Amino acid sequence: MPEIKQVKRPGRIKALCLAMSVSLAAGGNAVAAGVSWEDIVNDAATTEDVLAYGIGPKAQRWSPMDAINKDNVKRLLPAWSFSFGDEKQRGQESQALVHDGTIYVTGSYSRLFAIDARTGERKWAYTYRLPDDIRPCCDVVNRGAAIFGDLIYFGTLDAAIVALNKDTGKVVWKKKFENHKAGYTMTGAPTLVKDQKTGKVLLIHGSSGDEFGVIGRLYARDPMTGEEVWMRPFVEGHMGRLNGEESTPTGDPDAPSWPDDPGTETGKVEAWSHGGGAPWQSASFDVETNTIIIGAGNPAPWNTWKRTSPGGNPQDYDNLYTSGQVGVDPTTGEVKWFYQHTPNDAWDFSGNNELVLFEYDENGETIKATAHADRNGFFYVVNREDGGFIRGFPFVDNITWATHIDPETGRPVEVEGQRPPLPAEGEKRGASIEVSPPFLGGKNWNPMAYSQDTGLFYLGANHWKEDYWTEEVTYTEGNAYLGQGFRIKKMYQDHVGVLRAVDPVKGEIVWSHKERLPLWAGVLATAGGLVFTGTGDGYLKAFDAESGEELWKFQTGSGIISCPITWEMDGEQYIGVASGYGGAVPLWGGDMADLTKPVSQGGSFWVFKIPKN
Ligand code: CA
Ligand code: CA
Repeated sequence: MPEIKQVKRPGRIKALCLAMSVSLAAGGNAVAAGVSWEDIVNDAATTEDVLAYGIGPKAQRWSPMDAINKDNVKRLLPAWSFSFGDEKQRGQESQALVHDGTIYVTGSYSRLFAIDARTGERKWAYTYRLPDDIRPCCDVVNRGAAIFGDLIYFGTLDAAIVALNKDTGKVVWKKKFENHKAGYTMTGAPTLVKDQKTGKVLLIHGSSGDEFGVIGRLYARDPMTGEEVWMRPFVEGHMGRLNGEESTPTGDPDAPSWPDDPGTETGKVEAWSHGGGAPWQSASFDVETNTIIIGAGNPAPWNTWKRTSPGGNPQDYDNLYTSGQVGVDPTTGEVKWFYQHTPNDAWDFSGNNELVLFEYDENGETIKATAHADRNGFFYVVNREDGGFIRGFPFVDNITWATHIDPETGRPVEVEGQRPPLPAEGEKRGASIEVSPPFLGGKNWNPMAYSQDTGLFYLGANHWKEDYWTEEVTYTEGNAYLGQGFRIKKMYQDHVGVLRAVDPVKGEIVWSHKERLPLWAGVLATAGGLVFTGTGDGYLKAFDAESGEELWKFQTGSGIISCPITWEMDGEQYIGVASGYGGAVPLWGGDMADLTKPVSQGGSFWVFKIPKN
C-alpha cells in the first residue's frame, strides 16, 4: 500500500493545540484546549482532521492525501454506515467535520450527530426543537457545523445558532438572531476567522430568506459567548452594527442603486425595505489581506420591475450589494470591496455560490484570486485584493440571458427580451419567456473543488432552462416575495447534470461527464489524482482528475446532495459522505420530477476505505 503523505503524529498536533490555546488566551479570546485557530488555518494541509467547511479558509476542498489513488480506487469499500434515524429524512446537504476520532455531521431538521470515526457508533445526538412555523424555501437542510476550542456550532431553521460542547453534546450557548416568521432561516455552515489586526477569533454566519424578502445580514460573534461583535447588511443604505451600536450604512446612505418612491415612508421603493442579499453560504477567509469573502444573495423580490423606477431601465439600478461577492473587514464589519455578478438580478441567480481562494502565475506575476461559478452560468476569476474583475466565461451550454461578460467593465452584456416583461394593462401575469440557466442555476450551492496538482476546478453543473413570467406582488410578512412564476424544463434528453473540469486561467472546459439526474453534491479533489462527488440517483463516484474517466462508484441507497470529505486515521485514508435525497430540485424542479420521484429518501453517513488485504 502506498505511503500517505503529510501524516502528522497525533502527539505533535495535541502539543500544538495546547501551545495555541495559551497564546490565544493571551492575545484574544479565552479558549480552553481543543481546536485552535492554528489548526483551522492549516486544515487543508493536515490530513488527520477536517475542521472547516471547504476544508480550510480557502475552501478549496483539496486533500494532499494519495493513499487512495487512480490505481487502487476500484478496491474502495464501505467501512461502516450510520443512520440518522427517525422519520426526519429529507435532504442531507451536510459536509462533515472530523476531529480526534469523532465525526460531526449535521442532518435535516436541525440535527447534529457525533459519531465514533473508527466504529460508526453514535457518541451523542442533538435535535434542536424547531417551531412549527419555520419557512425554509428549499427543504429542511443543513450544510454543516464549525468547531473551535471545545465547542461545535451549527445554525437552525428558525434562524438561531447553537454552540454545543463537542464531547457531550450539551448546549453551551444559543442565540436566536432573526425572526423566523418573517422567513429568516439558517442552512449554511458557520465559519471561524481570526482577525489579523486584533488577534480575535470570530464566528461568522449569515442567514437565508431572500424568497421571503428578508434583509440579508452577515454576523460576527464571540465564539465563546455568542455575543454579536458586528452585523453588516447587504442592501445599500441599510445600517450596520458594531459592538451593539449603529456603525455605518452599507455603501451610499442614499442608496442610489435602488429607486426612490416619494409615496413611501422611506422615500424608496417598497422592495428596498425587503431587499434580500442574504449571505446564506459559508464565508471564505483571506489571512494575508485579513478579509472575509462571501457571496450575497439575490435582490428581493425576484421581479426586476419592483426594483426599477417606473418606465426606467433595470440596468440603471444595480440593487447593490446583492448577487455579488463581498470582501468584508473582520475588525469592523465594513465592506472593503464588492464585485457584482448580476446587476439588478431578474432571475434569482444570487451570488451565494462558494468563493474559492487560489493563486496562479500570469506574466511572471502571482495573482491572488477568488474563483466563483455563478448560478448565472459564468465562471468568474476576481482579484481578491480589491474585487477587480479579471475574467468571466461560460461553464454551461446555451446561456441565453447574456452573451458574455464585458472584459473592460466586468458587466454582463445582456440579451434583449431576457428580462421577463411586465404584465399588459389589466393583466396579472406577463408573457412567458424561456431563459437559461433557470433560477436553480448553471450550478447551485454545491461547492466545487480545486486541485493544486492540475490547477483545475471541478464542479457539478446542470443543463436545464425555464419558462419564466412576471406576476404582481406586494410584500406581506411571512409570505413568498417573488413576483415571478416559473417552470423548470430539460435542455437535453440524455442528461441534466454535468461534472466539469474547468481551467480558470485559459477560461476553458477541460472535460465533462454527464449525469441523468441534476447534480447537487459538493466535490472533493485529492493528490491521488481523483475527484469525488455524489449523484442524485445515489452513487458516490470517483473520477480521474485529468481525463474525467469514471473509475469507481458505490450505491448508497438514497440520492447524494452533500459534500464528501477525506481524512487519515491509523495510517489509512478514509472517504466519508452523507446520503439522503432532497433539497431544492424535488421541490422546485418542474419537469425534473420524472427523474427525481423514484429516488428514495434517506439519512445516513457512509465511510469508505481500501481493505488491508
Ligand atoms: Ca485537516
Ligand atoms: Ca434566492
